[in-house]
Amino acid sequence: MIRHDDDADEGSIKVPGLKQVSTHRFLLLSLIIITMSVLKLVSLRPPKVGFDLYVMSMSYQPEFCYKNRHEGWPGCTHPLDFWKSHLTIHGLWPEYVDGTWPQFCTPEILDNETISPLLSQMEQYWPNVKALEPTAKHFYEFWQHEWSKHGTCSGLGQKEYFGAALHHFVDTPNLVAQNYGGVVNKTDLLEAYGHHTVLVCQAKQWLSEIRICLGATTEGEPLQRVACPKPTEAEDSCQEEQIRIARFPEIQ
Ligand code: AMP
Repeated sequence: MIRHDDDADEGSIKVPGLKQVSTHRFLLLSLIIITMSVLKLVSLRPPKVGFDLYVMSMSYQPEFCYKNRHEGWPGCTHPLDFWKSHLTIHGLWPEYVDGTWPQFCTPEILDNETISPLLSQMEQYWPNVKALEPTAKHFYEFWQHEWSKHGTCSGLGQKEYFGAALHHFVDTPNLVAQNYGGVVNKTDLLEAYGHHTVLVCQAKQWLSEIRICLGATTEGEPLQRVACPKPTEAEDSCQEEQIRIARFPEIQ
């Protein structure tokens, strides 16, 4: 209990267990204690994950397959129809606003079992065209790579990371399917995807990838779409107004 002491000089306070202190000293002491408590509380909050935003990268498999046409990968020779009309997930990448990114943040490797409940969605929305059968040697390789390089920097667990990426799948505007094997105007494509979409092309004009940016919580959960920072926008490599939409190689 704190009480003013009748016997004490004016402007002083008696604190039980402490010697008589002046009001000024008492206030100063209280201020220091309060500040220390606030600082302690702040330091108890979970530390902000070490990045600024996510880049969600979606790739166009017919172009990826054309670039690697000599490989004869099964997903390229026997693609799902969905991959003709939709770009699919390449990765969910933690990034800094200066356009650089952290990578391979921990040595934790992907436990294939943790993503088994998501497998049917992964096969459609995040395909590894190099290996389509779960028994194939390289089946998990693409996801293992994305987890090690990018996921380990997200602050999320493995299931949460892949689940979050699927949740933030960016739908493809009809314009792409309508012009499969043809051309679209860059302006129209940008408008259909929404501003601040970054378009990536092979040889300046073949649509290969699109990137959008997402905010992130302090725990690393992706949030709603945000404008990409300037250095990320500068990754736009589609320099022609006419953008070409590749098609999968015809199988005879
Ligand atoms: P990143 O380092 O995140 O840019 O990923 C590049 C790696 O992912 C390369 O090894 C590519 O061959 C591989 N990759 C990209 N797209 C696919 C895909 N659709 N299927 C299989 N591997 C892919």
